[in-house]
Amino acid sequence: MEETLVIGGGTSGLFTAALLAKEGYQVKVYEKERELGGRAKTWIKDGFTVDYGLHLVRNGEKGFITTTLADLGEKLELISLKELEILCYKDKKFHPLPHDATEFATTEMITDNDKNIVFSTLSKKGITKESMDRSVLSWIEEVGGSEKLKEFAVFLSLGIVCPFIERASLGEVFDLMRRRIALGNPKTGYPPGGFGVIHKKLTKIIRDYGGDVYTQKEAREIRVENGKVKGVKFAEGFVEAKIVICAFPPQMLFNILDENLVEPKRRELLKNLRPTAGVSIDYGLKAKITEIDNLIISSEDLFLLGMVTSNIDPSVAPPDKQLMTFVAITNREDILDKEKAKVILSRLEEKIKEMFPHLSDNLEWRRPLFLPFINGVELNFNQYRERRPQPDTPGIEGLFLSGDTLAAESAGGELAVTSALACVDKLCSG
Ligand SMILES: Cc1cc2nc3c(=O)[nH]c(=O)nc-3n(C[C@H](O)[C@H](O)[C@H](O)COP(=O)(O)OP(=O)(O)OC[C@H]3O[C@@H](n4cnc5c(N)ncnc54)[C@H](O)[C@@H]3O)c2cc1C
Repeated sequence: MEETLVIGGGTSGLFTAALLAKEGYQVKVYEKERELGGRAKTWIKDGFTVDYGLHLVRNGEKGFITTTLADLGEKLELISLKELEILCYKDKKFHPLPHDATEFATTEMITDNDKNIVFSTLSKKGITKESMDRSVLSWIEEVGGSEKLKEFAVFLSLGIVCPFIERASLGEVFDLMRRRIALGNPKTGYPPGGFGVIHKKLTKIIRDYGGDVYTQKEAREIRVENGKVKGVKFAEGFVEAKIVICAFPPQMLFNILDENLVEPKRRELLKNLRPTAGVSIDYGLKAKITEIDNLIISSEDLFLLGMVTSNIDPSVAPPDKQLMTFVAITNREDILDKEKAKVILSRLEEKIKEMFPHLSDNLEWRRPLFLPFINGVELNFNQYRERRPQPDTPGIEGLFLSGDTLAAESAGGELAVTSALACVDKLCSG
């Protein structure tokens, strides 16, 4: 089988490589960083195992990460989040948020009319182009939802990491909810030992099938001749390959590929994809200051998500210590502006300290991260799946894409997997 080169050792690159290796391709993955995992990499700090910000496995044992690994022959153990998964922080208190149909039917967070509106929309079959191509807010206004529903819809839209209901795609939000219901409301999961476990398993699969994974190898240039891929230039030399898969956000593709080689419409699409962005903070604490083991969300001053990771998986912190992580989702422009980003970080930290007044006294270390990319693509109505790029590259034979920006199902880490499946499908069928 043909030599296939994957640029990028994040979730999508490793899944793509593992799936191709299983199909008999000679696959080599080249990652520029010292560690694999990309935006889901793990950091070891003084006995703490720290993910790259808050990371959870959507739909747990029934999600694409777990089921695709199972298809590749690897079982992913998961710790399930509690029955009552989500706490909403508001007015200086934590309130349980309904997360399944029964809880939803009895919640007082929205009116009975709002519930009917949501249920009737959910029960409609299939995803229509019209629902994908409109915002959550425009739908609420059209169907006469209350102000409470607008507030609640922010939490639903946080599920696709786009709490901006004026642009979050209604179809994408509802599709994720429908899928979760169809799967029987699986609990969200956390892999014991952190997300790095997933990447270790994938590396093993790739190597077991005869492929390989290299770190600290940065692709400098993708070489194309007469419309066909020839290979990739690295600092160490040129590697020939007829098939090259770029498994990193395609907004960066033209740093290593002559943009004039790509058909103009696709080129503009790739360059202009809008990612989700934010600020994250991890805290290593000297002592345990809270028992909370739920996902925490808030939309009070900031759109934030957080968890006390070591209360879910004690192995990620030394005994008697605690690890917590929070992320604020913002507009990308605010993160690119350093001053604004710093203000957002300090607002985020103030909010967390309000939740946990003993935090400062017990702080061992903190790691802020300014994130111009959380998910590679924001699932707003301009970027619903049919408007996102396909895995092939019109104009260049042998060049494929994989990653959490493509035209595939779900969001974030799951989209990294579904994009890998789509990429492999395209490659094998072509
Ligand atoms: C704070 C935060 C929280 C998140 N929470 C969740 C969550 O709870 N659940 C979830 O499912 N998802 C979550 N996500 C999203 C998830 O991490 C991403 O969707 C996923 O990791 C994307 O994987 P990827 O392989 O597509 O891209 P990346 O992870 O970006 O991987 C691309 C890789 O390519 C490498 N690379 C780039 N250029 C080159 C080059 N020229 N040569 C060689 N290598 C190169 C990069 O170093 C990187 O390792 C979160 C993301 C962040 C940042």
